[in-house]
Amino acid sequence: MYRRTFLKIAMISSAGIGSLLKSNFSLAKGISSKAFEGVTGERCYVAPAKGPIPTSLTDLFKVGPGPSSSHTIAPLRISSDFLKALENLPKDVMDKAQSIEVRLFGSLSATGKGHRTDRAILAGLLGQKPETCDTRLMDELQDTTKRYTTTIGGKTFVLGRDIIVWDKVEHNYPYSNTMIMRLIGKNGETLFEREYYSTGGGFYQWKGQPPPNRGKPVYPYGSMIEFKMLVQEHKKSLHEIMMENEKAIMKVGDKEVIAHLDFILKTMENSVKQGISEEGLLPAPFEFHRKAKRVYERSKKARATDRLMQQISSYALAGSEGNAAGRLAVTAPTLGSAGTMPALVYMMKHHLKLSQDAMRKGLLAAGLVGFLCKHNASVAGADVGCQGEIGVASSMASAMISYATGASIDVTEVAATIALEHHLGMSCDPVGGFVLIPCIERNAFGAIKAYNAYLLAKNEITSQRWEDLDRVIIAMYETGMAMSPRFKETGTGGLAVTMVDC
Ligand code: SF4
Repeated sequence: MYRRTFLKIAMISSAGIGSLLKSNFSLAKGISSKAFEGVTGERCYVAPAKGPIPTSLTDLFKVGPGPSSSHTIAPLRISSDFLKALENLPKDVMDKAQSIEVRLFGSLSATGKGHRTDRAILAGLLGQKPETCDTRLMDELQDTTKRYTTTIGGKTFVLGRDIIVWDKVEHNYPYSNTMIMRLIGKNGETLFEREYYSTGGGFYQWKGQPPPNRGKPVYPYGSMIEFKMLVQEHKKSLHEIMMENEKAIMKVGDKEVIAHLDFILKTMENSVKQGISEEGLLPAPFEFHRKAKRVYERSKKARATDRLMQQISSYALAGSEGNAAGRLAVTAPTLGSAGTMPALVYMMKHHLKLSQDAMRKGLLAAGLVGFLCKHNASVAGADVGCQGEIGVASSMASAMISYATGASIDVTEVAATIALEHHLGMSCDPVGGFVLIPCIERNAFGAIKAYNAYLLAKNEITSQRWEDLDRVIIAMYETGMAMSPRFKETGTGGLAVTMVDC
């Protein structure tokens, strides 16, 4: 039942399905409901057909200040977009303007203070861009009494924390993380307004936004099964298809795509390098100590059987602690999971000594997994819990190390599937809304699970495996939709409650 439904969807959305039955690949097979007494077809889940993925690697892998992609990078990008919109307003509108108001809803309101959402908004309105953001300014913005005078569209504004309203946590907007930005006139009237949504991983959109001026993918796909059919039909490898699509979507050449991949790999490596050399407290209203350096240093004297696991953990802690400190990090797929992929990147470079070309190919495989998860489920803790952040990061990291070390597309998919499958159901419950507990250690576990998934996949007979990536992604979505909002980044359930004394 499931198999037939799934393939029917694939048939509609892909011209290459004709070659499916002749395929040499391990294709999604699913277990017949007849195998289970009492299980009817109605209980089988029907996968929605969502069309081809239009996303670019520059959307997925973004660089910006920590600690959160949805609560820090996206608000910074949003206020930067609003600033640009204001600069393009007619002079007579700007002449009537007096102030700017920002209203935060949902998880942005519930946990935004711990995620530095307010500082990110002010930084964006002051002209900062995520990838070049002055992290010293972000630190300075901690002072809630400070006021900044800035000129926008020829008009002078005084900006401070009082322009931000922490509005309702429960609301009826279509996305949990909603942010409304307004230009207010002298009589309190709204002169210009945009309703923005932070949709996870630093992505954002606004109500009524026209589609971006981008190209279309040369090889359109919306699921792993469709992607594998393209590989077979066009006799191209995973990384070739990813490269061709990226060039077409962004209307650029090889050079630009490679430069972006190298920038991402370098930023990840640097985040680990810096993190394993730093000590002290992380910014928080309670005492929270870094430990990556200690774990790393002690790994050098650890028993041989413990050493590698300890080192990978220290790398993940390092990337994640740097993110919590507000350093520049990469959304992979989010900043909450900023330590998971960098741990494996550092390991691939410094332990396995892989070439830059192999690392790029691995990053492209990780990108494919990230795209599929974002497209068919979500990478936002506010939507699907931590399975969408650390779970997806672990899945991406496992695909990356597998493909970079020469695994086939089947083995790469199995690695990604195992890593994601064993994060299903994980809630998002950051204590006090800070990306510290449980987030930092979760990155270490995400990295270790990614490595273990890679080892298991290497030894898997792929044709004997039942689970496939598409179905596990759908299971993640279904699980996330059924989760109580208490466990989706609202700070009202799980550790966020039990860790706090009355
Ligand atoms: S618990 Fe997981 S999803 Fe939630 S903020 Fe932390 S890392 Fe992100």
